[in-house]
Amino acid sequence: MFEKILIANRGEIALRIHRACHEMGIRTVAVHSTADDNAMHVRLADESVCIGPPNARESYLNVPAILSAAAITGADAIHPGVGFLSENANFASMVEEHGFTFIGPTPAHILLMGNKVSAKRAAKDLGIPVVPGSGAVADPAEAREAAKRIGYPVLIKAAAGGGGRGMHVARDDAGIDQFLVQAQNEATAYFSDGSVYLERYLDRPRHIEMQILADGQGGVIHLGERDCSLQRNHQKLFEETPSPALKPAERENLAKIVTTAIKGMGYRGAGTLEFLYQDGEFFFIEMNTRLQVEHTISEAVTGIDIVREQIRIAAGLPLDYTQADIQFFGHAVECRINAEHPETFKPSPGTITSYHPPGGIGVRIDSAIYQGYAVPPQYDSLIAKLIVHDRNRPECLMRMKRALEEFVIVGVDTTIAMHQGLLTSAQFMNGDYDIHWLERLLGRG
Ligand code: ADP
Repeated sequence: MFEKILIANRGEIALRIHRACHEMGIRTVAVHSTADDNAMHVRLADESVCIGPPNARESYLNVPAILSAAAITGADAIHPGVGFLSENANFASMVEEHGFTFIGPTPAHILLMGNKVSAKRAAKDLGIPVVPGSGAVADPAEAREAAKRIGYPVLIKAAAGGGGRGMHVARDDAGIDQFLVQAQNEATAYFSDGSVYLERYLDRPRHIEMQILADGQGGVIHLGERDCSLQRNHQKLFEETPSPALKPAERENLAKIVTTAIKGMGYRGAGTLEFLYQDGEFFFIEMNTRLQVEHTISEAVTGIDIVREQIRIAAGLPLDYTQADIQFFGHAVECRINAEHPETFKPSPGTITSYHPPGGIGVRIDSAIYQGYAVPPQYDSLIAKLIVHDRNRPECLMRMKRALEEFVIVGVDTTIAMHQGLLTSAQFMNGDYDIHWLERLLGRG
């Protein structure tokens, strides 16, 4: 087993990984920008190295600085966390070339799934149903041709996309003319790759994803699905497992398709296959070859520590349980608490003047903030994840309501009030929502 792991990330996810390491007796190295000198992930790690200025390009995305930090501190392995370099195949290769273990899948699998066009082709070949769509389209004429085949409305998406950014709905040829070039420019700006493609735009789907773990030695298990349909601007705000929408047979069917495909790929590591689900049909949209923010709810209902498993797999150990060993208990939900205005979602960086997290039975907080901490403006606005577990969905939601009531964060705006609002909606309480539901409720759909 590794003796020392460098965590190439910040915030709550860096802490999450640190916790798994310490429970396994592994020492940790934090890296940080100058904006994060006082961050909790730096304070708790056994060692820390400053890798650059606040701008992530020069620090958390600075590959030479991260590799140097690993060399100086004598780390054996690097965990990339979520975002930043976690789906960068080049980084994964360089980590290995420099003699460290990359805690994640092979660079080839990251590359394959990192481009949504090649990912969808691979998924189709593996027997996974995909959203009808096109390959890369170069210009409006080609896009109009493809859209005619697919049928309007279509969604223009970046092949290298992520984080819900740079997507545009085109409802007719004029929509293509209006948005295609803009989408290509945004894709170049965000992802350094201007290629875009089209997909049929589904009007009332749910976002259902399945968590898998594979050891690359034939062992593949799934930890059930997560329903992440509560979104704004294609970004998840609230997740739950199991999905209130799935029938047991649908869940089993999806699990079978997914685990068979993962075995067929020879995949190694943790991963998530994301689907849109509408009228009883599943359509693959993408695979994330990394840990996900919402992995916590799968941990709650299965008792499996997904980060510990990632580390074990990276160390070459086989999974020490089979699917039959995985027991699903109860219901779990996660509220993403962002430093944002609860109605306008305007980012609200600033100093936390008062902080009191909720506690009690079935409550988990993953957060790196504390009283006196200044939320920097440079990074993601997620400041805490509140995860609640209970025997069933109604009780779980009541427990979440209670936990949100207790949660005190003063000094920055947060989305706590937004979540409290959700819990007063009868439709939401009935589990009756789709990916566009929140935006319709907010009056923007
Ligand atoms: P990203 O990698 O940027 O997160 P995804 O492909 O995972 O992009 O899509 C993010 C979200 O965008 C989905 O959860 C869903 O809400 C919406 N979306 C994606 N594809 C479609 C589609 N074909 N029709 C309707 N909504 C979609």
